[in-house]
Amino acid sequence: MRRATASAVLEGIFSGSLSPEEHVMEIYDNIKKWEPKVKGFITLLDEEAVLRRAKEVESLLKDGKRPPLAGLVVAVKDNISTKFAPTTAGSRMLSGYVPPFNATTVERLLAAGAIIIGKTNMDEFAMGSTTELSAFWPTHNPWDLERVPGGSSGGSAAVLAYGGADLALGSDTGGSVRLPAAYTATVGLKPTYGLVSRYGLIPYANSLEQISPMARSVKDVAMLLDVVSGHDPFDATTLNVGPTRTSSVAPEDPSKLSICVPHEMIDGSDPPVRSTILKLLDRLEAEGVKVSYDASLPSAPDALPVYYTIALAEAASNLARYDGKLYPFVVLRPNYTETVTSTRSEGFGREVKRRILLGVMALSEGYRDEFYVAAAKGRRIIRDEVLGMTKKCIIAGAVSPAPPPRLGERISDPLKLYALDVYTVIANLAGVPSLAVPAGFYDGLPLGVQFMASPLEEGKLMALGQLVEDVTGLRGVMA
Ligand code: GLN
Repeated sequence: MRRATASAVLEGIFSGSLSPEEHVMEIYDNIKKWEPKVKGFITLLDEEAVLRRAKEVESLLKDGKRPPLAGLVVAVKDNISTKFAPTTAGSRMLSGYVPPFNATTVERLLAAGAIIIGKTNMDEFAMGSTTELSAFWPTHNPWDLERVPGGSSGGSAAVLAYGGADLALGSDTGGSVRLPAAYTATVGLKPTYGLVSRYGLIPYANSLEQISPMARSVKDVAMLLDVVSGHDPFDATTLNVGPTRTSSVAPEDPSKLSICVPHEMIDGSDPPVRSTILKLLDRLEAEGVKVSYDASLPSAPDALPVYYTIALAEAASNLARYDGKLYPFVVLRPNYTETVTSTRSEGFGREVKRRILLGVMALSEGYRDEFYVAAAKGRRIIRDEVLGMTKKCIIAGAVSPAPPPRLGERISDPLKLYALDVYTVIANLAGVPSLAVPAGFYDGLPLGVQFMASPLEEGKLMALGQLVEDVTGLRGVMA
């Protein structure tokens, strides 16, 4: 099925043929139909409150204002702080926590006339690739309810795929918007590190992650990026740049595009993933794009262990703050040490505890050089290889080595779960932007393709992404 893209909805709203209120009601209809089966939201905002917000936007429009996301409905991942709704990061540890402030990205959405509809399900603290590791419940893939929607931003992707929102925010530390995008035939962009404020993002691994736009088309992702990107005085890691203007980028003239396909970005993927991507690249080549297959990123096979060492070390440090004092969840015991121990034992899930233990080990005296320091060096090597290549061409490859797994298929074995991230973690280690776009379907299941460019070349990725949509015809598809 096909559904209006956010850009088309916006046109309707600006032309007056669709009112934000009518639009919100349509979205709630989709939610009522799908949500009981998919379970993409942790918190769905009350319909009346959302309709009130729609009326507010309507009166802005009546006053002649044209905010860039007027009346568009946005779903926000539950690790992005909202003072009007609980923010749990998918963890029992944060149950009952309502932040006293909004994330900068949320403030910017509201200022742009967007209507926030709810907070979406995720793997606990964004640690996972399937959304099965949420402390609440797993989210199902609208294209096949027996399968996962990817993770950790699986709630956002699933909601987009059934039409429960026009746009969504996720976060991507090692693939968490791109993997769900690939599994749900939606689009996700991991921006250049520092392009989008992390203020108000519940941290997992600060040096790797970015709040990231998701939607049902490349242009919609661009529109959302333009609103949330740019320097934020509240986040000193943001770059000193203004908001992007990627939504005005047109599909690129194919003969000006040059793509490299390092074999490491596709080696080891399942035959249907491989053949779908190669077929798509052939079609791009037929359109005039230069595609080269003799490229190599020799250190890419080391990316997964390098990523997991760094991510877990940062996670262990970040998660030290959950001691039963700062946040509402606490398991009170007769003394302080026991209170901290019990709060952490009961508040965190198994996978989070596993990662804290591994992260602490990687930083410990006697192990630090062998693990953390070695990983930091590996990261530099990978980054240099990627930056060397993106100077010459856009890097293409698989998003996930496999089609969306069945629920339960991967979570029993952490290594099988981590292996899903083998191609996506590279962009996070290198700090470069990476776009995941639908590439095709296999047996009714969505498959994606990934593109990486040099830092701040989001516009180039949007131009290529739109060309890919033209070639596949998969713009604005919905389950
Ligand atoms: N699956 C990866 C991990 O668990 C990436 C998650 C993410 O990007 N937040 O670390």
